[in-house]
Amino acid sequence: MSNPQTQPLVGIETFSWKKWDACTHCGLCLPTCPTYRELGLETDSPRGRLYLMGSAFKAENATPLNEEWAEYIYRCLDCRACETACPSGVHFGELLEQARAIYENNANRAAGYRFWNNLVFKQLLPHRERLDLLFELMWLYQRLGIRWLVQKTGILKVMGRLGKMESLLPKIPPPRLKYTIRDITPADGETRYRVGFIPGCVMNQVFTETNLATIRVLTRNGCEVVTPRQQTCCGALHLHNGARDFASTLAKQNIDAFDTGELDAIIINAAGCGATLKEYDVLLEDDAVYAEKAKQFSGKMRDISEFLAEIEMVPPTDEIHRRVTYDEPCHLLHGQGVGAQPRKVLQAIPGLELVALTESEWCCGSAGIYNITQPALSQEILERKMGHIAETHADIVATGNPGCLLQIQLGIQKHGLPMRAMHPVNLLDCAYRGVAPEEWEE
Ligand code: SF4
Ligand code: SF4
Repeated sequence: MSNPQTQPLVGIETFSWKKWDACTHCGLCLPTCPTYRELGLETDSPRGRLYLMGSAFKAENATPLNEEWAEYIYRCLDCRACETACPSGVHFGELLEQARAIYENNANRAAGYRFWNNLVFKQLLPHRERLDLLFELMWLYQRLGIRWLVQKTGILKVMGRLGKMESLLPKIPPPRLKYTIRDITPADGETRYRVGFIPGCVMNQVFTETNLATIRVLTRNGCEVVTPRQQTCCGALHLHNGARDFASTLAKQNIDAFDTGELDAIIINAAGCGATLKEYDVLLEDDAVYAEKAKQFSGKMRDISEFLAEIEMVPPTDEIHRRVTYDEPCHLLHGQGVGAQPRKVLQAIPGLELVALTESEWCCGSAGIYNITQPALSQEILERKMGHIAETHADIVATGNPGCLLQIQLGIQKHGLPMRAMHPVNLLDCAYRGVAPEEWEE
């Protein structure tokens, strides 16, 4: 393990000292930080983590870049609530991702850790055909009753992280659905816009019906939808886990996949991916070839709710008489500044009653793979969220991110609440098609 006093850290030149220096140590971000609230430690707060970065990265300082240091840096949810609270405009998420990348460049990770990281981040997520095959096998595993058998034997309890991942596995939709997404889907009636669509990697396997609903909603609103096959995973999970260089490679592939000049917007319905895609310009700002292209690409990115709020949306006519509450995905609210637009979309649905959710702006504990890497803390954060959700007595919890949908649905099941989690675009699609939300099956 490297010590900044004895040898220079690999990749230290990528750390944005100017952005780090913007912190005035005022502490206004502390009350908004979920890990600080749960653990009460300065080292688990945004200010503390910024201090830890400086103390390990500055050559004259003595804090070693060791496992203890990494524990605090990796216990951060990367929810970016501290960015919203910060009066000095500290780009905490960007600094955190840089800090994790520097750690990964210098850490001597165990062989098992490196194996799993390589398998998931490099061999799986960027390869659609491999993901297709894996999720088709998972679908069969669930469909043929093997899952029931495995759970009965109790074998999952001794399988460690793999067993934990299995228990979080949602119901996989029929594989045929994802193959119905076409390269170009024409607008219903007159073409008002030409938009690109990013179905996501895991999103497209687990929430295929939400992707199909997004395309239906877009075409209903006069959009021709272009979904290029050459696109790949957005790189959000790579960035959050210190694989910055690999995320840049994925970003370039995505930029090349879209003809941005021909598109009015590029649409995403997953908040975590959207925040990363909108920040390709920052990720590639020093790249001589891609800096300008990344700026154009990021400038075209829109969350589906943001796009619908911008255009003159076709009003849905079918009524949905349900009590709905909205939970903000962190990477939509804090990462993209999109909060009013999903509510505007929901309020456009006739008959729908939108009720406020206390602390809707707080993280649900999903945070990418946080519920796998930090299961105990993730559950504590979820418990607080579920308490507030239960108070709403809503029929539906609407939220626009796959991780949040899974995490909240798990919380609903655990507490036996008579409600379900749904993406806002699914509700809108139900209203356009005259389908009751209960009939909608993911
Ligand atoms: S990103 Fe979230 S968890 Fe991390 S320091 Fe900021 S507020 Fe706390
Ligand atoms: S990150 Fe912002 S809010 Fe937090 S201590 Fe620094 S300046 Fe204050």
